[in-house]
Amino acid sequence: MSINTETYLKIKKYLIDQRVELIAVSKTKPVDAILEMYNLGQRHFGENRVQELVEKAEKLPKDIKWHAIGHLQRNKVKYIAPFIHLIHSVDSVKLLIEINKEASKSNRVIPVLLQIHIAKEDSKFGLSKIEVIDFLESNVYKRMENIEIQGLMGMATFTNNTEIVTEEFAFLKQLFEFVKQDYFNDDSSFNQLSMGMSGDYELAIKQGSTLVRIGSLLFGKR
Ligand SMILES: *Cc1c(COP(=O)(O)O)cnc(C)c1O
Repeated sequence: MSINTETYLKIKKYLIDQRVELIAVSKTKPVDAILEMYNLGQRHFGENRVQELVEKAEKLPKDIKWHAIGHLQRNKVKYIAPFIHLIHSVDSVKLLIEINKEASKSNRVIPVLLQIHIAKEDSKFGLSKIEVIDFLESNVYKRMENIEIQGLMGMATFTNNTEIVTEEFAFLKQLFEFVKQDYFNDDSSFNQLSMGMSGDYELAIKQGSTLVRIGSLLFGKR
């Protein structure tokens, strides 16, 4: 079991040039593989299951920045609240209320992204544009002191049709700019757009992504 070192270094260099942060998605991969990439300098890793994330975090160096990227159940938030670097997958107001509560218990402000449903498939989680706007205008949101919304996240349709994927990323970028201007007064803390995976990260970057979540290209297929 070994990582794809050459691909890692090549992608990393490209992303530095583009000023895009790489989140290495290590789900289902062993701690040895993560450590190998850590030793090449990688610090941001993403996982989609809480139990797996917590177990790996316990075994690996403490300066790793852990990203929660998959659908998150409310009853699992408490396990990651003390240390999670960024939660990408906030797809309901109830979940955000829970994150705010657990963040408060941990005496933290937890950075989060709102996940937007941009794909054609129903299976992907996420909020609609209307839901995001309603939420940002609500008193529930105004009272939340322990979360910081740093941007938006989305997953494009799983297709080889680059036109569809490009259109979906462009829509997300447009929504991001709209929300930034109308609800964050161009506040510099609202500045992350998490889009792009192994198959579509170059298209995502062309549309303005700031964070890409790449797994299989770096670690081999799952
Ligand atoms: C698994 C996963 C990724 C990485 O997918 P690859 O195609 O392996 O790069 C990115 N984002 C999320 C939300 C995932 O669950």
